[in-house]
Amino acid sequence: MNRTQSNEPKPSAETTGFNWTPRYTLWLVLLALLAYSYITQLQQQHLNIAYSTFKQEVREGHIAEVTITGSQVVGSYGGSYTANDDKNNSYSQFKTLLPEIDDKDLMPLLDEYGVVVKIESSELPALIRVILAVLPWVLIVGFFMYSGRIMRKRLGGGVGGMGIPGFGSETKEPFEHSKITVNYTDVAGLDNAKAELQEVVDFLKNPDKYRSLGAKLPKGVLLMGAPGTGKTLLARATAGEAGVPFFSVTGSEFIEMFVGVGASRVRKLFDSARKAAPALIFIDEIDSVGRARAFGYAMGNDERDQTLNQILAEMDGFSSAEPIVVLAATNRPDILDPALTRPGRFDRKVVLDLPQHKARVEILKVHTKKLPLVKDLNLDDIAAQTVGFSGADLANLANEAALRAARNNKHFIDKDDFDSARDRIVLGLSHGDLLNESEKERVAYHEAGHALTACLLSNTDPIKKISIIPRGQAMGFTEQRPEEDRHNLTEEYLQSRIAVLLGGRCAEELVFNSLSTGAANDLKQATQLVRQMITQWGMNKHLGPVNFDQGEDSHFLGRHMGELIDISEHTAEMIDDEIRLTMSNMEKSVIKGLANNIDKLHRIANALIDHETIEGEELKSLLSDA
Ligand code: ADP
Ligand code: MG
Ligand code: ZN
Repeated sequence: MNRTQSNEPKPSAETTGFNWTPRYTLWLVLLALLAYSYITQLQQQHLNIAYSTFKQEVREGHIAEVTITGSQVVGSYGGSYTANDDKNNSYSQFKTLLPEIDDKDLMPLLDEYGVVVKIESSELPALIRVILAVLPWVLIVGFFMYSGRIMRKRLGGGVGGMGIPGFGSETKEPFEHSKITVNYTDVAGLDNAKAELQEVVDFLKNPDKYRSLGAKLPKGVLLMGAPGTGKTLLARATAGEAGVPFFSVTGSEFIEMFVGVGASRVRKLFDSARKAAPALIFIDEIDSVGRARAFGYAMGNDERDQTLNQILAEMDGFSSAEPIVVLAATNRPDILDPALTRPGRFDRKVVLDLPQHKARVEILKVHTKKLPLVKDLNLDDIAAQTVGFSGADLANLANEAALRAARNNKHFIDKDDFDSARDRIVLGLSHGDLLNESEKERVAYHEAGHALTACLLSNTDPIKKISIIPRGQAMGFTEQRPEEDRHNLTEEYLQSRIAVLLGGRCAEELVFNSLSTGAANDLKQATQLVRQMITQWGMNKHLGPVNFDQGEDSHFLGRHMGELIDISEHTAEMIDDEIRLTMSNMEKSVIKGLANNIDKLHRIANALIDHETIEGEELKSLLSDA
């Protein structure tokens, strides 16, 4: 819905009309020269004859005059003599080539028969030589002008720094901005973020009010949040709310450009914003230029450094009295160069969280406003089933639901459409590949193992659905849905979670006495959780309340980046041992729990084999009537 504006350049005079510029003159001269040489070639018609024929003609006294240019001989027949070609055209002139080996007889022969001999320098005429010397340059310069135009079209702004100043940038186009029509009513939830940015909006609306009081506003605000939480949307809406022009660039644009282009684009961006002030500048995905400049990353990426330096220089260059605010967005605040967040630059941070229940309802309202919903559709229910969805996911959900309704020729979108759209987003598409009987049994016990473990433990999220219909990568799934949004996870909750993850594998081992590859992903998740419990949350007795977290990509070319925590080899070994120990202890207790309730396990597995899918309610009654 907010795709209506874009940064497309307005067609400039240069691309739509014909401007008489020096470079057209150049092309014209070139064209004229080509035409001239072609015409003169046409006029001089010579008969091509063999060298031996030529000598024969000399001996017969037919030839009056020859001109020798290098190895080329051009001559004319004497008197009224003409020679004919095989199409019976007659010629008064001929041409031939001299042999490579010097023919010593030729000159005496010509002399003997009184032929006038002219020798000309074999070099090309001066004019042609000049053209040949200039031509490569014309082509090179032409290429630059051409690519300059392409770049400008692609970037939407002017690009001057192509290496040859003046070419490709004859018209100095300002950086294009867009007029925004979205405002804060289009951004649902995010109340904290909106409140924080309200000040920015107010400042851009009445800069004089702030200036007269000498109040200084932050120049830069960093929007941080997971992908799809609405950072880009919020930035646009802020410009729309304040009613100021919106200048935006995306960090990743710079990376693929020629060296020097990024910096000049940043300069243009800030220059144009100053002229249009009050204005809002937005640098999206700033992490792609603003990564911390550690040893490893600096190699071979001058462009990013130059662009980043230019951004920093521009931010330092304008005073906080100027009615310009720079917003930047990132989903990786942890890897940002500290220079960016220094006071006077992006020193204010606004965090965009994943939407909570109430916010999800509001986001759903925004995105279903124009959709024909059935009357009794409860958006509250849908919000409850979409814990962990981002704003973008919810927008996608509404769209998928509408698509499904349309596919089924419905006039209104109902709960079914939302449910199946949700499953599709969360679990992937269900595909036709059905399991064969033995696979089906194994998957049924695997999923039953997950489900039963969850039912046996306290502290677990209730089971909503179990299925052995393959979807996406998974052969089956057991779905737990948190009743409320969880913020702070307790140790007990985490342990139960690991147990449930192991439940599938344990059931297979218990029933079939063998393992399968189906549990790979479960194992991975469980191991990750255990590692985090030990290294990040200090939940291990032996290692104690210490953070050993080294971050995921904090290692680069053998060097640490950012804040580094060095751990000794001994500690690393201890961590590995503890992870192994915790996992195998957990496995033992899960197997024990399942073995004690083996009849329930069989019951769930058999129900799955029969029905393929069991809802949470059915599972409850299945387990209680025993
Ligand atoms: P980000 O930049 O954080 O990755 P976007 O701003 O591009 O996310 O969000 C993508 C889309 O998701 C938006 O265009 C909008 O349709 C939807 N969206 C995200 N957050 C919200 C929100 N709070 N309210 C309404 N729509 C939202
Ligand atoms: Mg974005
Ligand atoms: Zn599993």
